Amino acid sequence: MMILEINSEENMKEFGERLGSLLVGGEIIELVGDVGAGKTTLTKGMAVGLGVGEYVQSPSFTISRIYDGHDGLKLAHYDFYRLGDAGVMADELSETMADKKTVTIIEWADVVGGVLPIDRLSILIGALSENSRKVEIKAGGDNSNALLKKAEQ
Ligand code: ADP
Ligand code: MG
Repeated sequence: MMILEINSEENMKEFGERLGSLLVGGEIIELVGDVGAGKTTLTKGMAVGLGVGEYVQSPSFTISRIYDGHDGLKLAHYDFYRLGDAGVMADELSETMADKKTVTIIEWADVVGGVLPIDRLSILIGALSENSRKVEIKAGGDNSNALLKKAEQ
């Protein structure tokens, strides 16, 4: 497990950018934290690191958004906050997660917990103060652990 304290929105984006630059496709990243914790802010940083040129906005209303990154990589960003039942979205998510060129980032994943693989990176964000966040990163298996090891360097 990796624990960090990140003291500004800018630093959260920078951390995301570094993490994003380590991604090669096939990763599944679950973001856990209250509204306003910084899940989407972190995703914006990861998008920059993945070479996404487009503006990344919260997919709260659309549930999912897909962006093109460098070298044919795609970023699939999901937010299940407003969903009581995943329904057909769980199948769509499963297909997305199986694509080796896609990085999947999920906010509010509880409703799709049944289809999430154990081998995923879980990033928990908690507010310590207005601008300070505690970030805890856990790996559930070999692939996510390899990523965590790279992030720790
Ligand atoms: P979430 O997706 O978790 O609901 P957002 O990323 O949309 O959260 O919003 C986070 C809010 O907190 C933004 O308004 C951002 O400016 C603010 N903020 C303040 N400090 C930080 C920090 N250290 N990291 C991330 N966001 C921060
Ligand atoms: Mg969000």
